[in-house]
Amino acid sequence: MPRPAKSGHNLDATLEAGLAEREAAGLYRRRRTIQRRPGGRARLAGRDFLDFSSNDYLGLACDPRPAEAAAQALRDYGSGSGAAHLITGHGPEHEALEQELADFTGRDRALLFSTGYMANIGIAQALAGRGDTILEDRLNHASLLDAALSSRARLKRYAHADPAALAERLSTADGRRLVMTDSVFSMDGDIAPLAEIAELCADQGGWLMVDEAHGLGVLGPEGQGAAAAAGLGQSEAPILMGTLGKALGGFGAFVAGSETLIEHLIQHARTYVYTTATPPAMAAAVRRALAVSREEVWRRERLAENTRTFREAAEAQGIPLMPSSTPIQPVPLGDPTRAVVLSRALESKGYLAQAIRPPTVPDGTARLRITLSAAHSVEDVRGLVRVLAELM
Ligand code: PMP
Repeated sequence: MPRPAKSGHNLDATLEAGLAEREAAGLYRRRRTIQRRPGGRARLAGRDFLDFSSNDYLGLACDPRPAEAAAQALRDYGSGSGAAHLITGHGPEHEALEQELADFTGRDRALLFSTGYMANIGIAQALAGRGDTILEDRLNHASLLDAALSSRARLKRYAHADPAALAERLSTADGRRLVMTDSVFSMDGDIAPLAEIAELCADQGGWLMVDEAHGLGVLGPEGQGAAAAAGLGQSEAPILMGTLGKALGGFGAFVAGSETLIEHLIQHARTYVYTTATPPAMAAAVRRALAVSREEVWRRERLAENTRTFREAAEAQGIPLMPSSTPIQPVPLGDPTRAVVLSRALESKGYLAQAIRPPTVPDGTARLRITLSAAHSVEDVRGLVRVLAELM
């Protein structure tokens, strides 16, 4: 006989009140099923859209070459890595990718992590702890904030992109001092003053960690990132984190630095040690994407041209912009409901651009986050601005 359902707990009732509150504040997040398509397009509910909301900056997520490399690796090695890197999960594709990433970033060595989120957590936990201090830009990505909070070090946040504020906090910080910053800020698109920050770290003995999630593949001569573009090598920016799911169109992340740093992370980064290695097919896909991104300079040039075109056309139409020279081009709106309404109106015209609301960004700074890609044509970008101008 089936046992009668017990209802002694009030789990759903408690959670529902919170969800209703979020909905009333215009902050409810909704997920949809989207199929990515080549050419900066995406298919949603049977209809094709121009997608200005992905991080596929170079248009490699749908390129047939990484996909074919993955398909071959699936046939060669199967679907799963079978174990953590330190057990038996580290295969020849992982090893080759690490060497290629070290070569690409000009670092002694690179170490693969499953995601950028996990890499950031692993770095903070392995390099700082009780009695130490982690210093972070106020607009850093959530994963860097969570990284500091989980490390047990004291967290000090400094005013956005403000080296003087960092200098003041560095001079009074205790223990080891780990400075963590986005290179390109994910919701604002501006670039951290990395040269000044590196100099402060050098003067005051801080350890600089740069998160290149949105710089890698996009900035620098071959796409090595914002730190490279600012002339910072391993001695100035000793802890470099890059992600593989954005410009490189795949999935995963890596940390690059000295031999000693990498050995330390292998010993102490819990998010490296206690998790399954990514499938070898993904490493194979990223290897191919990395090679393509280095060879096909036109992708970075097209991306820069699309970014310029967007800004010039938007300025001509009186559309408000933020001070960003990168493919992340937010349109500031302030009110979260206005951001959602605009995003939906764009969608009805065939364009996808994400409304970004608190708590992802500070209260009162909701925005439309437009991201450009080398997969878009200049005409695609002009079309977006035309429709945006009509709707604003
Ligand atoms: N850092 C930054 C700045 C990011 O924008 C992101 C992804 N949104 C991450 C880290 C996390 O990377 P991943 O998606 O690989 O977990």
